[in-house]
Amino acid sequence: MTDIKCQGCGVSIQTANPDQPGYAPKSALEREDIICKRCFRLKHYNEVQDVPYQDDDFLEMLNQISDSSGLIVQLVDIFDFNGSFIPGMKRLTGQNPVILVGNKMDVLPKSVNPNKVKQWLKSSMKEQGLKVEDVFLISAQKGEGMDELSRAIENYRQGRDVYVVGTTNVGKSTFINALIQKTSGVKDAITTSYFPGTTLGFIDIPLDEKTSLYDTPGVIHRHQMSHYVSDHDLKVITPRKEVKPKAYQINQGQTLYFGGLARLDFVSGERSSFVCYLSNELDIHRTKLENADELYRNHIGELLTPPDSETLKDLPPLKAHTFKLHEGKTDIVFSGLGWATVPEGNVTVTAHVPEGVKVSLRQSLI
Ligand code: GDP
Repeated sequence: MTDIKCQGCGVSIQTANPDQPGYAPKSALEREDIICKRCFRLKHYNEVQDVPYQDDDFLEMLNQISDSSGLIVQLVDIFDFNGSFIPGMKRLTGQNPVILVGNKMDVLPKSVNPNKVKQWLKSSMKEQGLKVEDVFLISAQKGEGMDELSRAIENYRQGRDVYVVGTTNVGKSTFINALIQKTSGVKDAITTSYFPGTTLGFIDIPLDEKTSLYDTPGVIHRHQMSHYVSDHDLKVITPRKEVKPKAYQINQGQTLYFGGLARLDFVSGERSSFVCYLSNELDIHRTKLENADELYRNHIGELLTPPDSETLKDLPPLKAHTFKLHEGKTDIVFSGLGWATVPEGNVTVTAHVPEGVKVSLRQSLI
């Protein structure tokens, strides 16, 4: 097939795989102005849909942004900051201002202080060497925080274009669709001139006569737990409702399994309460440290589930990360699953996660 470009976003058209960029059904090839499925949905249903790119293509694509002038709106999932942060983000922002949007606020327990979440997001961005103009917390699904955010976007963009970036699954489509509903005049959302100089799949949603909001494809992030689990397991581990904290009084020498996807050993310290913030559907099992390996060998995929059998086929083995904690209450964050809050005191814990998935520490959000 000769290389045909989508008239909407410029991506190369392919007819083989509906889940990959540039897909169009064969019948579409007979038309004059061929557009990909993603552009088709926007044009006819006013709806954007995410398509995944692999890291390298994605970064190449986003490099285009650093050469342009506009406001970058970066979306992260507040339940999975590490998994949803885009590596190389600093390089691609160039001189452009960035606002950070933490999505899925609705799943955080009410006991979490939103200002602490904002502070933590700000300092996490700083650690990545990124300066952000502002941080917003929203629930794209419930529409919470959207009015304030759309006003801020209007303010910060100062008449320039807007680029919305995020890894897959952060809720970028839900967010843009909610924005489209607010904006008028999007009936002819796709312009025929795609992003200048690229063939890389930016979708152009006009904001006014001169400027646009660009939906960029989502990147697949290898540290995301979602990368390793089946669709079924992803549904189990992704919180849908407000997370109910689960407290465990545990002694040193005990361990907690989060399904069979992660484990937290209480290696040493006074008897204390570990509070777990995970999807309500994910079961936690407590056992003695000395029995933990055997339990895993005998019951992974059964009692300890997820993983289901499909996830198990490719799941990397668990890898141990040991932390000695001294000051203040600490959250041990399991990328893509949630976190456990460990109280103040001299505590040593070992967190186990599938190799490649990240575990990190932060000052407790509660
Ligand atoms: P994209 O891959 O970034 O475009 O993400 P989607 O918009 O397809 O959303 C990914 C998943 O997150 C879907 O299951 C959405 O229903 C869910 N989601 C999106 N926004 C929110 C939100 O504000 N709160 C919650 N709880 N879930 C959300």
